[in-house]
Amino acid sequence: MSDTAPAAPQFADLGLPAPLLEALTSLGYETPSAIQAEAIPTLLAGDDLLGLAQTGTGKTAAFALPVLAGIDVSIRATQALILTPTRELALQVAEAFQRYAQNMRGFSVLALYGGSAFAPQFKALERGAHVVVATPGRLTDHMRRGSIKFENMRFLVLDEADEMLKMGFADDLDAVFEKVPTNTQKALFSATMPTGVRTVARKHMREPKEIRLHSGVSSSLDTITQIVWEVSNHHKLDAMTRLLEVEPVEAMIVFVRTKTASMEIAERLEARGFAAAALNGDLSQQLREQVVDRLKRGLLDIVVATDVAARGLDVERISHVLNYDVPHDSESYVHRIGRTGRAGRSGTAILFATPRERRLLHQLEKATGQKILTQALPSADAVRSGRLTKLATKINTTRESTGALHEKLVSDLLELTNLTPEELAATLLAIMPSAKTLVDPVKDLPSAPATNSAREGFAERDSGLVRYKVKGGRSNGLMPKPLVDALCRFGGLQRQQIGHIKMFTEHTGVYLPELSEGAIAKLSSVEINGVALQIRAWPLPAGEVERPARPKPPRKEFPSKPRAAKPRPAN
Ligand code: AMP
Repeated sequence: MSDTAPAAPQFADLGLPAPLLEALTSLGYETPSAIQAEAIPTLLAGDDLLGLAQTGTGKTAAFALPVLAGIDVSIRATQALILTPTRELALQVAEAFQRYAQNMRGFSVLALYGGSAFAPQFKALERGAHVVVATPGRLTDHMRRGSIKFENMRFLVLDEADEMLKMGFADDLDAVFEKVPTNTQKALFSATMPTGVRTVARKHMREPKEIRLHSGVSSSLDTITQIVWEVSNHHKLDAMTRLLEVEPVEAMIVFVRTKTASMEIAERLEARGFAAAALNGDLSQQLREQVVDRLKRGLLDIVVATDVAARGLDVERISHVLNYDVPHDSESYVHRIGRTGRAGRSGTAILFATPRERRLLHQLEKATGQKILTQALPSADAVRSGRLTKLATKINTTRESTGALHEKLVSDLLELTNLTPEELAATLLAIMPSAKTLVDPVKDLPSAPATNSAREGFAERDSGLVRYKVKGGRSNGLMPKPLVDALCRFGGLQRQQIGHIKMFTEHTGVYLPELSEGAIAKLSSVEINGVALQIRAWPLPAGEVERPARPKPPRKEFPSKPRAAKPRPAN
């Protein structure tokens, strides 16, 4: 290993209590991400914090871990409030708390978001959930009803503050800041720092420590082609196998986030017949060196590594770097892709990004000073022709070592079998185990169409869905649940077909499969809270970027019996 990087800080150095450190070990986290290394000690020291960080940087753990360190489980009262713009994020953050608190007996976290029943939320609040993760709208409802208590509140965290302000929640946020006890520690995370966010920080925080992830790493990456494939988490393994079939890979480093993932993926690759091994911080120095040595000597072709373990790795054979999981920051990305294109050779760096992660691309392009090309996943045809090319190459190279003996065997076989040369060759192929994949059916993986614009990718995210506008919004108490009920009952839709719903003051945007004129007419006359929906298509202006569609809501959220919606009698 040649180029050395500064020693990475360890979780154990940050001042976190043992139960949290043990949870991190069991989750396979190896080292803190940049934002964690800075934010955790700051928050543990009791300072307010203003963090400029995006999804994927590890920001959730950056606030969840210090918050958990300060929770007294024996006090059954809400001690921390986390605000997030969307219900998906609220659920995600609540789940993260649960994971990190796995060794804190009696700990409870509650997610509060609109569109779900109040009764269970009242109960859970009464029982004193230690941490509440809420969307601002639903929190405001609870504040009005007095169901959430603030006396024991010690932490207030705003996650994706810029998004909440964009959604028009400035006043609600102010109200929350005013409600929490004055000594509450506050943290605000935002992907961007517009004036609105700064104003909130100035108004409500005590000399917050500001943390920004540095970008702009200068490094010579000219020899590397960067490519992004849009892949859902679910399809990553298949996509990687496909990559190995179509790309001329000599050797590849696959970067993942956790030690556990590095083991699992290496095992799966081995099971699929690849010469693969894991490289992570759990391995002794000696074992790590062995892995690198085997990679150098061609005994291994794929190494599945965590960032730390692959620091400074210098192996000329590495033709490809695969970012199986997006890196935590642009510096890690630059370091990762720099493992290829060494010693004047060219290299390819491929990044698997889920639709939500595509917004990181811009930052990575800035850090590398290069465009990241978007490529569609290889089609079934490309896989088939890749397999054939590989076999043809193998035949050509093996031909050099075949001689009179093999040729004599062929003429004997032709005579014995009475087949034509083509028939014999075809039969030999059928017998040959490694040629079996040539006749295996290949399925197309779901993929986004190729585009070179990271921004366009977002519009694609809702591919197949059309944005519609309906009358009625927050000002007249329209809630997602009755809207979903009405769309299903009168628009002939299934709940899982309904995409993202975005509520504004007077109207609401909703992503749906294209509706027939009949369905539009029928839905338009449906009234909710006395307002007829008057649904109409609402195309996005060119270049506008939308939030991704939300996943299918859990069933219990929306009981199937519609209540608030009724068709208006025809007059
Ligand atoms: P976030 O930016 O908080 O959405 O986190 C992105 C992903 O990184 C989540 O899947 C986390 O579980 C994971 N993660 C966060 N911190 C670490 C870490 N230090 N090591 C490995 N994975 C992490």
